[in-house]
Amino acid sequence: MSGESSDEESAPTAPGVVLENYTKVPNSGSKCVVCGAHVEKGFTRVPFYAQVELAVDHCLILPTDNSNCRICISHLEGGHLRRDITVTANYHASEDEDEVKEAHFESAEASRLIQHLLRAVSEYRKMASLDFNDESALSEEEYHLWTGLSKEQFNALLSYLPGVRTSSVRTKRDALAIFWMKMKTDLSFSHIGSLLGLHKDRPEAARLKTREAFYSVMEDLNTNFVPSHLGVGHMTQEEAMAHNTPYSSTFFGDKPTTIWDGTYLYTHRSSNYSIGRKFYSMHKGRELVKFMSVVLPDGYVLDMIGPFFSNASNNDAGMTIKILKEEGLGVLNWIKEGE
Ligand SMILES: [Zn+2]
Repeated sequence: MSGESSDEESAPTAPGVVLENYTKVPNSGSKCVVCGAHVEKGFTRVPFYAQVELAVDHCLILPTDNSNCRICISHLEGGHLRRDITVTANYHASEDEDEVKEAHFESAEASRLIQHLLRAVSEYRKMASLDFNDESALSEEEYHLWTGLSKEQFNALLSYLPGVRTSSVRTKRDALAIFWMKMKTDLSFSHIGSLLGLHKDRPEAARLKTREAFYSVMEDLNTNFVPSHLGVGHMTQEEAMAHNTPYSSTFFGDKPTTIWDGTYLYTHRSSNYSIGRKFYSMHKGRELVKFMSVVLPDGYVLDMIGPFFSNASNNDAGMTIKILKEEGLGVLNWIKEGE
């Protein structure tokens, strides 16, 4: 190449690729690629799926080395681009609306871009096998299989979760699915995260996010859902009397009648010895936790009090004494009022 001018204009340029109507985004970290806002807090690198969706849905092509590009977290939903965003960042020097947009790529860059897109095709093929976000992606049977709920029940529960927000990693629907999948299958958080396709390349981060989603759903359901379906607060004495049977009415009269019976749930063996001892039931020869169920004569579960350790002091009588003595629970006042 000696003797040739190093002048840019006369340097031989490799044949490139021009994409009409596409816009090339510079690899710069100072502004959000979607809205052009200056990067401060609440920004993140553009996740893989969002890069592809920017290209496919918004004709914005990020450089293959896009390590500097940033996006507002608010444009993301579960690692994907939100469907309702509009690109408002300005990538054009000229104000001319009629100017034909063109993205120019040198051949090496074009080659990398094609490889990038082929990888995207391959990733999309093996995307989350369980997709709870697109309601039509899973059948009614699959909803039931994984969550124990129908689609209608699943959707209804969403309204009880005001505190669970859609994050950049997972949606609110993902979070609810995580909770019920855990309850239904007892798979590990890592397995559930993987099934939902969260943080595909970072298993530990996926595990933590899945766990966090589980607990935030549990908290919201406990606050907003459980009180209207369990506990004395959800039923008046008159309503409870409708659950009397001829047997209970004959023997105990026409008043609210409750039946108390201890029940239990097997647990894993604890690695903590002294806790493990408290969980161990001599009677069953296994670790378990106990609950006192308060049931109406026709079998309707009014309340479930507990949990209690399962060592000998917590037999049915022991639990009842404990509830009467210490817990001062509403159930007792409720019964007194009715009597
Ligand atoms: Zn933005």
